[in-house]
Amino acid sequence: MGTTVAAPSREQALAKTAFALMGDWKVAPTPENYELFYVYAAGTNAALGKIIDTMIREKTPFTQPFLQGLCNQFLARERTAQTMEDVGAGISGMLDAVMGRLERAGKDAGEYGRTLSAASGELGGNQSPAAVAKMVERLVGATHAMEARTKALESELQRSSEHVTELKTQLDTVRKESRIDPLTGVANRKAFDIELQAAIKDARQDGSSVALMMCDIDHFKRFNDTWGHQTGDQVLRLVANCLSENVKGRDTAARYGGEEFVVILRQTPLEGAAKLAEQIRANVENKKLVKKSTGDILGTITISIGVSQLRDNDTPDLFLQRADRSLYRAKNTGRNRVVTETDLVRTASSHAA
Ligand code: GH3
Ligand code: MG
Ligand code: MG
Repeated sequence: MGTTVAAPSREQALAKTAFALMGDWKVAPTPENYELFYVYAAGTNAALGKIIDTMIREKTPFTQPFLQGLCNQFLARERTAQTMEDVGAGISGMLDAVMGRLERAGKDAGEYGRTLSAASGELGGNQSPAAVAKMVERLVGATHAMEARTKALESELQRSSEHVTELKTQLDTVRKESRIDPLTGVANRKAFDIELQAAIKDARQDGSSVALMMCDIDHFKRFNDTWGHQTGDQVLRLVANCLSENVKGRDTAARYGGEEFVVILRQTPLEGAAKLAEQIRANVENKKLVKKSTGDILGTITISIGVSQLRDNDTPDLFLQRADRSLYRAKNTGRNRVVTETDLVRTASSHAA
């Protein structure tokens, strides 16, 4: 008896393609890299597809930091999308079941109604006691059956409502996750954009000030090159924690991109923001860095910060641009420092003088 060989499934074919590509491009066979190339092979993520296509076309090597960036950017989203799909499927399956059940309940009630009205018709006639007794028996039977069906319906609806609550919790979790940077646990760029709009709107309404801090880790490339990317990621988490620890609940710390972070400070004028930025800068500088796996002392890490304050008629872009320009100045004047937008104006006019 010969063994039957099942036709390779789509999953197997995709896995094969993913592995072949990883082999061709000398990509380390980590689970995350595999997931990345699997998603690429499946062609379900157009943005990721475009990036990898370009890399392949231009024969650019896939470095691990670059792959890590892709994982951070795309895999969390891919997972979120999958969970959303699961929750969606759960809801629509449950609605189908409830609708079907209600339809049947409607039919049952119609039948019961017909039994009742037939009985009431019969009551009009001249019935023998025996016939009346029989009719009552029939009515009692039909009523019991209806009661049982109603109970079953009730408990089914109860189960459905519990299921809906469960799905709602899942959906809330997904929604929260979709706004968080998976590596550092602070808000991601999307959440930051939304919050910045909201903070600007609120400030316009109540006349309060809003400040923005843009932070960038100094010489981070060098740090990664010396200690490896995973240790670099550890530093990103440390900086993110430092930001979160230093801001209030109404403020938002977010990862803006690679090794850049932003903080929205509600109800904070520029001077207050500058003080806080200085506190954060000193805080990061004073952390003792130790490589978790080996206990190696990694020295210190520093950050540069640019600070801006919301102006009348500002746009989110202009507001960000001034923080970015201040950061740029902080980098150009030696790093590990805080520069505010007023410092920019001051130095510009002293140059002009
Ligand atoms: P500067 O002081 O001028 O900011 O120098 P820099 O080296 O920090 O700046 P540059 O923009 O040249 O390099 C940023 C580096 O940040 C590149 C990359 O090695 C690192 N990086 C970006 N994203 C990540 C990440 O997600 N994880 C890790 N470990 N490193 C990252
Ligand atoms: Mg940078
Ligand atoms: Mg940097």
